[in-house]
Amino acid sequence: MDTTSVPTHIAKVNVTTPSTADASQKRRKQPANFVCPVPGCGSTFTRHFNLKGHLRSHAEEKPFQCKWPGCGKGFARQHDCKRHEQLHLNIRPYPCEGCKKNFARMDALNRHLRSEGGAECRKIQDEVTVPIPDGIEMKGQPADASPSMKPDPDGPWQGNGGGYVM
Ligand SMILES: [Zn+2]
Ligand SMILES: [Zn+2]
Ligand SMILES: [Zn+2]
Repeated sequence: MDTTSVPTHIAKVNVTTPSTADASQKRRKQPANFVCPVPGCGSTFTRHFNLKGHLRSHAEEKPFQCKWPGCGKGFARQHDCKRHEQLHLNIRPYPCEGCKKNFARMDALNRHLRSEGGAECRKIQDEVTVPIPDGIEMKGQPADASPSMKPDPDGPWQGNGGGYVM
């Protein structure tokens, strides 16, 4: 009898997730076949492609990567990553009536309305909701915020490309 040898290279993957693994990862019940080898990270991925992208983010010191398929945005801090991931969950309770964008935080919406690109939105917003008084201009603005006068090219999803998202 001719026994065709079955390839046995499909090794059983041992998912040795460090105890520091993100709690949200445990919540998402996916088969995690690829584990980040970076010590202290322990991020798991279902595709090698995703792991590769994640590893690249380590090189850029953005070890916390958005786990939503097709996004893969990296963040230097877990706090920023979590906040970003909430955007995917549609936790954006502050809609702009002008352009129909949704913002996760009141100050983000206000900043949008005060920006150059949000001028039209502000007029519309004023008609449908309580007016935003001019007196509160700088209240609650982060000290490291970029100038608010620049146009809003990509909307709230893109952020400024840095750690300051929205
Ligand atoms: Zn990692
Ligand atoms: Zn994302
Ligand atoms: Zn708007």
